[in-house]
Amino acid sequence: MRASGGFSTVNMPENRIEKPDKPREECGIFGVYGKNMDVSRITYYGLYALQHRGQESAGIAVSDGKKVMLHKDMGLVPEVFSQEQLDKLKGHIAIGHVRYSTTGSSHPINAQPLVFRYAKGTLGLAHNGNITNIWDLRSQLTSTGSVFQSTTDSEVIVNLVARYSQNTLEEALAKCMIDVKGAYSLLLITETSLIAVRDTYGFRPLSIGKLGDGYVVASESCALDTVGATKLRDVGPGEIIIINDKGIRSIRALSSRKKAHCIFEYIYFARPDSEMDGFQISQVRREMGRQLAREYPVDVDIVVAVPDSGTTAARGYADESGIPFEEGLMKNRYIGRTFIQPSQDMREMGVRLKLNPMKHVLEGKRVLMVDDSLVRGTTSSKIVKMLRDCGAREVYLCLSSPPVVKSCHYGIDTSNESELVAAQKSVEQIKNLIGVDGLYYLSLEGLLNIFAKDRDNFCTACFNGDYPVEIAKPGNSGKFMLEW
Ligand code: SF4
Repeated sequence: MRASGGFSTVNMPENRIEKPDKPREECGIFGVYGKNMDVSRITYYGLYALQHRGQESAGIAVSDGKKVMLHKDMGLVPEVFSQEQLDKLKGHIAIGHVRYSTTGSSHPINAQPLVFRYAKGTLGLAHNGNITNIWDLRSQLTSTGSVFQSTTDSEVIVNLVARYSQNTLEEALAKCMIDVKGAYSLLLITETSLIAVRDTYGFRPLSIGKLGDGYVVASESCALDTVGATKLRDVGPGEIIIINDKGIRSIRALSSRKKAHCIFEYIYFARPDSEMDGFQISQVRREMGRQLAREYPVDVDIVVAVPDSGTTAARGYADESGIPFEEGLMKNRYIGRTFIQPSQDMREMGVRLKLNPMKHVLEGKRVLMVDDSLVRGTTSSKIVKMLRDCGAREVYLCLSSPPVVKSCHYGIDTSNESELVAAQKSVEQIKNLIGVDGLYYLSLEGLLNIFAKDRDNFCTACFNGDYPVEIAKPGNSGKFMLEW
């Protein structure tokens, strides 16, 4: 059953797919403020454009100036919202969220936006990122009477805002930003305001745009483009933006000593048509491919991509090397989130459902295949076998990222270190494991050089363990955490 206007009674996904062999983005957020606009539909289309950032649940909260209404459920955006539900969400302010869980399990109650009543009225929250001192904060809050409905770290923020309710909302948020450590891009909704917040390091992206007389805020600029908004700029690290009937205001709540934008957004997560923090994603990816070709000039007949994530870098490799780019693997674009996994003896079919090799392109060729990253290595070995079965004479794998050797604590599911193949094995061992003739990773130096004078503004912790924000470990204080 689905419900709106409160915490929904919602459905679990029917068939969970096996853990993918890629890092997974946790969330996408979208918000709009606009009088005389259909804000629920604008948010619906914005979330559609951000669907790649989370496929487990979706939700929209809308305010008409007096009350905040909510609808959320497990599933993809078009599964969660019908025409009728969007019609019910009438107002001039909206925030939306698509989620894939890393903290807090995949459960309906963890779907966002979270909407609460507190001393000053109603507050809704959509969060992208991970709070790193969650254990301490939850412990402090529960010991002084806070009650948590969900297992997400996002609920801690709402509780903290409520704690500071003797202050204005901006002041309360600024105080929260001192307490909360880690990665967060936030959208908040009250009866009268839309508020955007970005953590002081700027881990997760957040852009603001203009739409008619109103404003739109989104995780990626591709969502601004989708709804016809013009990007104004990125929300700055440590910035709070408040939009209401008095206009738009910016507060630099915390000064940013060091920026740490997630470099994996550029390698894999973000859509190629997005622009973030001054860089066009597709241009960066193409340059990664060119840099790979400079670092590893392999003597092959064709360059192919693992679509779609490796395609732009593969074209860059082809540009730089002069070796022709060919479509050697065709992607099935209709594989959804919940297809039934093939049984053990049908595993190869699982990969072939997603990717089909083009025999006439590959047969007799020396092939260089470009992909964005290698996490566990399980899918790559199946793809390489498919290429060889099609008659590829030699197969080389180029990756447009350095080896992923550390887990992410800032909102990306990169698997545990014990599951990361590059943390456990040498390049030679991985090469043998996946069955390639050569395995080449883009160097971290080569990757950072693409960003020129901004090269120090990125988090690279999953490649070198250089975590910009300390990771607090759960102690006894963690024992109250619910597990769904
Ligand atoms: Fe991004 Fe890796 Fe840093 Fe996580 S650890 S924020 S995935 S660069």
